[in-house]
Amino acid sequence: MPCPCSMTGVRSLVSAKLGACPRCVAMAAGGSVAGWTLTRALRRGGAPRLVYGPVRLAAITCSLLLAAHVVAYRVRRRPPAFGAPL
Ligand SMILES: [Zn+2]
Repeated sequence: MPCPCSMTGVRSLVSAKLGACPRCVAMAAGGSVAGWTLTRALRRGGAPRLVYGPVRLAAITCSLLLAAHVVAYRVRRRPPAFGAPL
């Protein structure tokens, strides 16, 4: 079953789905872990920057996406302000 977010545009994805779709959050987390693990392995293996650079860029992108998911989730789940009607 395809992710419902994959069919929407980037703008609506950011506004509506960020932090709301567990599958997208999991993909961002998995990409982040895999990207940083591969970057670390390539650098330890003595790979040139031309090789590990794009991998690191992908890892940074996944990490930023994951951070955006977490922030959006936290903002959505924020409790009502003090004094607000329940
Ligand atoms: Zn999704």
